Order: sequence, then structure tokens, then C-alpha cells
Amino acid sequence: MEKDKKRVVSGMRPTGKLHLGHYYGALKNWVSLQDEYECFYFVADWHALTTEYANSGIIKESIHEMVIDWLSVGISFPKSTIFIQSDIPEHAELHLMLSMITPLSWLERNPTYKEQQQELKDKDIHTHGFLGYPVLQAADIIIYKAHKVPVGIDQVPHLELTREITRRFNFLYGEIFPLPEALLTETPKILGIDRRKMSKSYDNAIFLSDPPEVIKNKVAQMFTDPQRARKTDPGNPDICNVFTFHTLYSPKEDVEMINHDCRIAEIGCVECKKMLAPRVVEFLNPFQEKRKYYLEHKEEIEEILAEGKKRARNIARQNLLEAREAMGI
Ligand code: SF4
Repeated sequence: MEKDKKRVVSGMRPTGKLHLGHYYGALKNWVSLQDEYECFYFVADWHALTTEYANSGIIKESIHEMVIDWLSVGISFPKSTIFIQSDIPEHAELHLMLSMITPLSWLERNPTYKEQQQELKDKDIHTHGFLGYPVLQAADIIIYKAHKVPVGIDQVPHLELTREITRRFNFLYGEIFPLPEALLTETPKILGIDRRKMSKSYDNAIFLSDPPEVIKNKVAQMFTDPQRARKTDPGNPDICNVFTFHTLYSPKEDVEMINHDCRIAEIGCVECKKMLAPRVVEFLNPFQEKRKYYLEHKEEIEEILAEGKKRARNIARQNLLEAREAMGI
């Protein structure tokens, strides 16, 4: 462990290109943690299999794309350790060991298990792997003896399950793993262009790699205040997703002007969106420049992942050995 620095572990499933929802939901925070903590960020390809097992080609295709997105927004190597979950088989072995001690009822009461079965109706996820993904999650975290896990408030119950499994392991076999703590992060609520949660599957996302023309088209299609039918009707920026975007990307004076003029019908939604589009383009431009660099230097990605694998595996191997000894296996 880097001297005096607490360790943070987090992962992301490679199931396609990353969008602004991923940026605000996780990546922005990952970038900001890099100086204070020793960060381990992994591509959760085994987790992606829980829902994409019938379409596993997308996982391999998405791994490099996702790492390029990470590096483009400022996740940096060697500051952080970046690796692929399936390169570290110790996660799988610890997952198996933890599976033996995790009561089924803990997994069955996981709210995400039921929600996802409702949401992903086109996929059959009545599998052992999907039910048990929180156990794999616990293994991913504690195999590095992580101190902190960055989570949004809605993910706290997941981390609590990791902590319960860890407590049970330590109770049965001795204090091997520290209890990981939540590193709570506030994230702005940005929605997709149709005001639903931003998601690739809803076809409503603005991707980090979208070219300027695509961004302009998407912004032009954004839903606004649903009560405002005509330009002459006063609008309400408080419930308008376009306005939320302005608060993130536009200068303060513009935000204040829109906040005022919208309420007295002095500005129309078309104009308001026209002001927004170049701001989003401008915001994403530095990311896209970096993305271009990495697309032309793919060998650097290989090196980063190989080095990440080496670093992560050294630690995982050592910690797994301790767990095995404690368990007497
Ligand atoms: S003027 Fe702008 S803030 Fe007001 S409702 Fe239209 S898009 Fe939203």
C-alpha cells in the first residue's frame, strides 16, 4: 500500500460507450479521488456477463473503448491502478469462498435483484450468477483490503451487503479483511434527452465521444418543461432538464438570464437549446482530444492494463493466501 494513503476500489461494467450519466455518476468522482487515495479501478467484465452472457461479444469490444473513455476524462496511470477483473483470477476464488458463507436470504432480499428482473424483461437473468453478483462484488472489494468504496446514496445498501459478508468471514475465520466504508458522493441529477434516466438502452444518452453535430441534434431534441406548450407560456427552469444542463456548462450570467427570462416567457426553448449545444461541445472537447490520442496510441492502453494487472495481482494473491490460511483450505 502506498504509504499513508487509504485504498479505494471501484469498477464499471463494460457494456458499451460511456455517456454523461457515467461521467457525473462515477468518473468525475474517480478522477478527484486520485490524489488523496490509492485508487484501484477495474473493468468489471465478469459482472457484465451476469446480464450479457448471451451477447458476450459486446464485452470484449467495450473493454478498450471504456478504458479510453476513463483515460480521456482524467483517470491517470500510474497514479491509479487500472485493470481488467478477469485478469485477476483471485477475485473468482475469493468469490467462491464467500459464496459458501453467504446466506441465500441476503441475496434474495437485494432490491436490485428484483428491480433488474422487472427492468430487463428481454433478458433471462434468473441465473445463479446474477443472484450471486453481490458476492462477487464483495470479493472485488475486499481482496484489496479496500478502506473506502465511492458510492452514491442509492448504492449504500449494496455496500452494506459487502460489509455483512465481510463481517461474517471475519467472525468465522478471524479478522482478515477491514470493513470497507462508503465514500459518499453527491452527484448532479442529469437525465437523458427524454427526461428518463440516461441510459444506452433508452437511446437517450449524450456519449462522451459524440461528435459536435450529434450533440447539437441531441440537444435540439431534449424535452423541456412539460407544462410549457408555447413560447408565450412562462416556463419553469426548476423542472427543466435543459436548464440543469445549463447550470453545468454555461457561464453564471447565462444561467441567471435563462432562469429569469424563461419564467416570464422572454426566451424560447429553441433559443435556449441553441445556447446550450456549443457549451456541451466545448465541455467534451478536451476529453475528445485525449480520446483521439489514445486511439492513435493503442499500445499505451495495453501497457497500462498489463502494469495494472501486475500491481493488482500482487496484492490480490497475497490477500487471498491469508484468507485461504484463515479458512484452513
Ligand atoms: S427556456 Fe430553457 S429553461 Fe425554460 S423551459 Fe425552455 S429549455 Fe427549459
